[in-house]
Amino acid sequence: MSRRGLSGADIRERNIAAILRILRTEGPRSRSGLAQRLGLSRSGMTPIVAEMAERGLVREQAGVPLGRGRPPLMLSLTADELCIVGVELRRDRVGCHVEALDGSSLGGVDLSQESIPEEPLRAAQLVASLARQAEQESGRSAVAIGICLPGTPHDGGRVDAPVLGWHDVPLVALIEEALGDAPPALLVTDIAAAATLGPDDTGSEDRLRAHIQFGPGLGLGICEIHPGASPRPESRGIGHIAWPGTTSPCWCGASGCLDTVLGLHVVTEELHRRTGMAAPGPAVQLSAALAEARRAAPAELGAWTDELATRIAWVVRMVAQFEEPDVITLGGYVTALDDRFERALRERLTPAGGIPDGVAVHLSRNDDAAMRGVATAAANLVLDTPLTTLGTAR
Ligand SMILES: [Zn+2]
Repeated sequence: MSRRGLSGADIRERNIAAILRILRTEGPRSRSGLAQRLGLSRSGMTPIVAEMAERGLVREQAGVPLGRGRPPLMLSLTADELCIVGVELRRDRVGCHVEALDGSSLGGVDLSQESIPEEPLRAAQLVASLARQAEQESGRSAVAIGICLPGTPHDGGRVDAPVLGWHDVPLVALIEEALGDAPPALLVTDIAAAATLGPDDTGSEDRLRAHIQFGPGLGLGICEIHPGASPRPESRGIGHIAWPGTTSPCWCGASGCLDTVLGLHVVTEELHRRTGMAAPGPAVQLSAALAEARRAAPAELGAWTDELATRIAWVVRMVAQFEEPDVITLGGYVTALDDRFERALRERLTPAGGIPDGVAVHLSRNDDAAMRGVATAAANLVLDTPLTTLGTAR
């Protein structure tokens, strides 16, 4: 029997990966169209489709007739028992996004008043409990879990997160232990990098995207997206760049860092001070402080909002000029601010204000960009090596 192009398991897996990726990004496709794109003969496709169907990854059914003759057979992604979970652990929010292998949303869990535990073991247990909740609510089993948090992942699933006091924490091993037998594929990234993979309503398919995350630390995630390729986000911290004219000591040991004028705790405390509210405890949420300021000191809140917009525009300008991205998205606590902030920011983000023409700047509409982005990264893990990943999940 002729099995052209199917001499090894690697090639088989690569073909299955390519088909999965096309079906995820483009929706149902005809068997003959897929064969053509992969450079396979019709008979070469037969065993591949059979294996995918047997594993429950695809369904094949007759499509819409094209003129005369039999309607083409269309393959669509199914995997009805599987889901991908994207977990976001932040100082001001904890939650997860659940999606099917074809990228469609299956809902999520939102613990907006929770915070990432500083104890690594408890953080790992929280991920496991979010994953279990996601599985229960979707009625599917998780084949991959992506986790994003305010820290830097290293090889071997170890994480440094100075804002949490974490140094070389074996987070992936802790999560695997918390999940028990046969854990799904795990991937850890930082929030800013994850958000570059999140949904983008700008239709910028193959452009360089940068995301600035305003949180306990300032993160910059950048991602070059090529059509059909697996996007690989990377990130750098930008919190320790010197802010002109400031000398406040930073937790990094230097002084005058961006983190000392734009960190989550700093702006929350500042808002309290400026609006004459009681000094906050460390657990006070910015959203609660904003609600209180809106009620008690609207004029002071307005002035503070304008001033914050000036500082944030400075950061955006710096990223626009140094990274030269096509799109910049902003996430984190800035999404909790009101319309006045957005108007003030827009006024400052002009070519005259140093933003090059053609750079689109967007405030994340909903604050789900990072958890959806890390779900995409986890899905890519499955799509890149489907037989290996799905094999371990069983
Ligand atoms: Zn610093």
